[in-house]
Amino acid sequence: MQTPHESRRRAPARAARRSPGDPPAVPWKKLLAWYRANRREMPWRGSRDPYAIWVSETMLQQTRVETVRGYFARFLARFPDVRALAAAETDDVLKLWEGLGYYRRARNLHAAARLVAERGRFPGTAAEWAALPGVGPYTAAAVASICDDEPEPVVDGNVTRVAMRLRAAPGDGRDAREKARIAAWLRPAVAAFGAPGDFNQAVMELGETLCAPQAPQCLLCPLRAACRAFAEGDPERYPERRPAKETPVRRLFAFVVRDAAGRVLLAQRPETGLLGGLWELPMAPADPGKNRGGASAARRALASLGLRARALRSLGDVLHAFSHFRQELHVWEALDAEETEPRENRAFANPSDLAVATATTRALALRPAPETVVPET
Ligand code: SF4
Repeated sequence: MQTPHESRRRAPARAARRSPGDPPAVPWKKLLAWYRANRREMPWRGSRDPYAIWVSETMLQQTRVETVRGYFARFLARFPDVRALAAAETDDVLKLWEGLGYYRRARNLHAAARLVAERGRFPGTAAEWAALPGVGPYTAAAVASICDDEPEPVVDGNVTRVAMRLRAAPGDGRDAREKARIAAWLRPAVAAFGAPGDFNQAVMELGETLCAPQAPQCLLCPLRAACRAFAEGDPERYPERRPAKETPVRRLFAFVVRDAAGRVLLAQRPETGLLGGLWELPMAPADPGKNRGGASAARRALASLGLRARALRSLGDVLHAFSHFRQELHVWEALDAEETEPRENRAFANPSDLAVATATTRALALRPAPETVVPET
């Protein structure tokens, strides 16, 4: 598979001239020196392999470095190159992604790997990367700058925070116009030092370490002399915080049903949408009112799923946070249960053989209190 950077290296560009009213002259060279001396070790750092960088940047979206390390190593061990990923079954890809969340990333990565393998080459520019399923401007800029020296700035949450503090810029930094302003401001600097990949990673690293959302360590920061937010004395003011919205709660019953062999009844979610393609316990909405998680409501919910049990036993609750709501699962074990109406995409299985949603894994780890058995009446 051709790697574009082997055939083409870009020459450093000159830094753009500053005009009156521009943000302060930032000592980016000091930032690069700080990064090269202090960067954290990561399994993908130092690599210019577009496949490895693409996988790592996809995993790093909305996810902390420490969480990604183990997933990245297992993923690369199982699918060492783009052809191996393209040839994989979707369920195997989801299984390796299990627990990392935002499963659409895995589906898109898999679909895009098939396109790349079919073409026989990786994209050579950020624009080409961005044309692949699931590759947004952030990932495209990161991969193209690291692997192909393209001077395209990465603008993720960390970079936005650093840029807004340096300029003491108003706003919360979430709208597309502010991101475009930040990209335009950074572009000449990314091009100026002949190492766009290092430059982008340096700004991200600064945002993830010293220039953290709370309690930034300004006294250690290589950009302190040019930072307007630091000069003002209250860097945490930038970016502005939005008032926290109340998070909606979705309450559901979840039932643990086992067959004689100890296998668990699991239902597969639709391929598109939340947790697409993952397996989970049979679930039904809980009544919002009084006794919403009680035994009689649980019995009704069980029946609505086409199931009947000799007795029910409460296992407790699982609270699980998604990006835009919280899920509250009232988990019950259905003893000596049978299916009165078999459903499509539902089967007894060993959970370790399938890609299982995290809330279900947590529900299966609950242990019952013996006195909670409620017999069928
Ligand atoms: S001086 Fe402080 S606020 Fe400014 S960029 Fe550095 S760490 Fe961030």
